[in-house]
Amino acid sequence: MFGFLKQVGDYTKDAVSAARYITDGLSVTFDHLKRRPITVQYPYEKLIPSERYRGRIHFEFDKCIACEVCVRVCPINLPVVDWVANKETKKKELRNYSIDFGVCIFCGNCVEYCPTNCLSMTEEYELAAFDRHSLNYDNVALGRLPTSVTTDPAVTPLKEFGYLPKGVIDPHGVDPSRPRAGARPDQILAAQAAAAPAPDSGAPS
Ligand code: SF4
Ligand code: SF4
Repeated sequence: MFGFLKQVGDYTKDAVSAARYITDGLSVTFDHLKRRPITVQYPYEKLIPSERYRGRIHFEFDKCIACEVCVRVCPINLPVVDWVANKETKKKELRNYSIDFGVCIFCGNCVEYCPTNCLSMTEEYELAAFDRHSLNYDNVALGRLPTSVTTDPAVTPLKEFGYLPKGVIDPHGVDPSRPRAGARPDQILAAQAAAAPAPDSGAPS
């Protein structure tokens, strides 16, 4: 008899604590319904890519010396450098340069090792096309200025987490003029210079 009563008591205790946990969970869920959704409403809202974002590659024809370093450091030897040797000037003359973004893995090696800085990464990430052959960019397409989410009037640009002001975690409704957390090196140096004691004038006392 005593054992049976203990079983009923334990069962009741378990049922009560289970009900409490479910109620706690539901209260948390309903509390979340009151919060602002963190959803970035693409394509009307877009996150501003970070300053080291590896997007579509930009190429400057006039700076290229056809050294082919970009081809050698590319994991798949992708860039096509079409050049001819000019016997009179004894220099390479670039005729065409192309990168097939249908094959590129956007590792940035070519940009890293280009000696003349004629390659650079842009923040352009919307490269979708119906025909993959149109992803093979020649030097004209590679030289096109990149699109930017901050200059598109139809888009509300939002800052990524690393660029939000101190203590802010949601990019919605943040004043875009507010700087990111922390100080720049020049601001730190200026603050240190202002705090340092004035140098001795050297005049005899
Ligand atoms: S590494 Fe730069 S300069 Fe050399 S071929 Fe490639 S793009 Fe041209
Ligand atoms: S980003 Fe990487 S994969 Fe693409 S062309 Fe440059 S080195 Fe090759």
